[in-house]
Amino acid sequence: MLENIRVVLVNTSHPGNIGGAARAMKNMGLSRLVLVDPQQFPHHEADARASGANDILESAQVVATLEDALVGCSLVLGTSARDRRIPWPLLDPRECGTKSVEEAGQGLEVALVFGREYAGLTNEELQRCHYHVHIPSNPDFSSLNLAAAVQVLGYEVRMAWLAAEGQPSKVEKEELNAPGNDTLSTSDEMERFYGQLEQTLEGIGFLDPSNPRHLMARLRRLYGRSAVSRSEMNILRGILTETQKVVRGEPHKRKDK
Ligand code: SAH
Repeated sequence: MLENIRVVLVNTSHPGNIGGAARAMKNMGLSRLVLVDPQQFPHHEADARASGANDILESAQVVATLEDALVGCSLVLGTSARDRRIPWPLLDPRECGTKSVEEAGQGLEVALVFGREYAGLTNEELQRCHYHVHIPSNPDFSSLNLAAAVQVLGYEVRMAWLAAEGQPSKVEKEELNAPGNDTLSTSDEMERFYGQLEQTLEGIGFLDPSNPRHLMARLRRLYGRSAVSRSEMNILRGILTETQKVVRGEPHKRKDK
């Protein structure tokens, strides 16, 4: 998914910054680098600063214009060292990460565009972008080194990507949302569960009715926090029922042994 996010460096003057940007990208799992009319590339300083991210430099695409760099992109985010350089929809780095990952996750192409060391992006270039992104730096000293700016946005993209990966997949979410399956257990169902839980805990000798020590209150608090769904409740009740059968010496699910 991260391969749908390209980093575009416009008219970079210092090859060392190209190498530094490549390294920052690789650290964050980004791999597609597009160089618009770089002043010196390839260059040994780029290789030196990439230190291990040379594969990104080798596969970097070099193009003549920003337009060429943006072919196929449905989301273009342009970075600016100055807050509100021209009135335009603005995202902070975190929003930039989330939006890029959302778009890339749908199979769409995203470009993060970075400007020249000395002059940034021109107004015309900024107007080619859907959003502008400003890293909220010290207003009296707002301009980050180019590779450092790539690092900051790369990090935000990575954090958003990790968060997206941690979510249940769409299928699982749909399963959970299926009617009757993931509706929350009602309070009367929870009460029946607590009743059976208490009996079971007594049955196995874990709860001493003459010295209950707030055990049930604590368990209520635990399950109450858990937003137990009906299907989860079926599992919990099933476990208790089988446990009670074992305690009573009745036939139960694990009959062997
Ligand atoms: N003198 C230029 C500074 C360019 S710094 C100017 O005033 O615009 C080189 C590039 O690093 C910028 O074009 C931008 O892509 C990125 N960059 C540096 N600081 C940034 C910040 N605070 N927010 C977003 N991007 C920044």
